[in-house]
Amino acid sequence: MLEGFEAMRMEPELRCVKALLSPESGIVDTHSFTLSLVGQAENSHATFSYNTVVLSGRVEEEKMHLFVAETGSFESRCEGVVAELELIPNLVVNSAGLGAQALAKRFHGLRHRFIPSSHYARGCYFTLSGAKSPPFDKLVYPIPEEGGLGVHVTVDLNGLVKFGPDVEWIECRDDTSSFLNKFDYGVNPQRAERFYPEIRKYYPDLKDGSLEPGCSGIRPKITGPGQKAADFIIQGEETHGVPGLVTLFGIESPGLTSSLAIAEHLANKFL
Ligand SMILES: Cc1cc2nc3c(=O)[nH]c(=O)nc-3n(C[C@H](O)[C@H](O)[C@H](O)COP(=O)(O)OP(=O)(O)OC[C@H]3O[C@@H](n4cnc5c(N)ncnc54)[C@H](O)[C@@H]3O)c2cc1C
Repeated sequence: MLEGFEAMRMEPELRCVKALLSPESGIVDTHSFTLSLVGQAENSHATFSYNTVVLSGRVEEEKMHLFVAETGSFESRCEGVVAELELIPNLVVNSAGLGAQALAKRFHGLRHRFIPSSHYARGCYFTLSGAKSPPFDKLVYPIPEEGGLGVHVTVDLNGLVKFGPDVEWIECRDDTSSFLNKFDYGVNPQRAERFYPEIRKYYPDLKDGSLEPGCSGIRPKITGPGQKAADFIIQGEETHGVPGLVTLFGIESPGLTSSLAIAEHLANKFL
């Protein structure tokens, strides 16, 4: 724990009363990270099937049967698409993110009471423009807000300064929409008006007009606004009774940081 003056000596643009210093926290290039995992998996003889969608599943003779089609045949509609392939794997891990609940509901034989409700919270980022150099050297996290970590600042590996993500609860019309990922990932420039006061709580010298819309992402939540934040849900046969099926729900942040630990847990427990 640092006193405010100690933290502000390290980061002169920062304003705070106290701070927690985490000297070993950092960032990774997420794209390179996932690509390197793909490379390692392929070296260990894994096969990836891109542009392929799992339409549904059925439990038959103690095995999950998956019905699979090409994504192209599926993008604009959902019903009436005929499976091109039936797979009977030893282990199925439903890690479909935003579509995990919608997919689980298409697994005949999995009782719906094991499928948590779905809630969605968009998180938008704004980037800092016009600064000669990044105002901060370290990542700065304010006090968390409901549904998210608070509008924090990240300096990515290319030196781009990003603020976000905020929390915007959004509706998803129905399971088909989440199954097809029909979410709006647009960043409304007017949301900047909410960012300025949030950021100025810890970076008072943020200049008017310096924020530009960046990217957004959507959190697959299992509790809604006003409810207590939930942990990840990992369910195997011992919970839902379906042999050879593991379901992952609510894998929101820090799901990427936790991905190797989750994979290790699944491998130890279910393989
Ligand atoms: C704004 C934001 C900021 C975040 N920041 C961080 C952070 O700083 N640190 C961190 O650790 N985590 C962070 N996260 C969380 C992290 O991105 C997720 O936890 C992680 O991506 C979850 O990985 P996943 O593989 O479970 O799901 P996803 O990455 O959502 O992947 C699911 C995959 O399943 C596929 N799929 C869906 N349905 C089907 C189907 N029927 N058939 C076939 N494929 C299907 C999808 O196309 C997708 O490729 C953040 C998330 C958001 C939204």
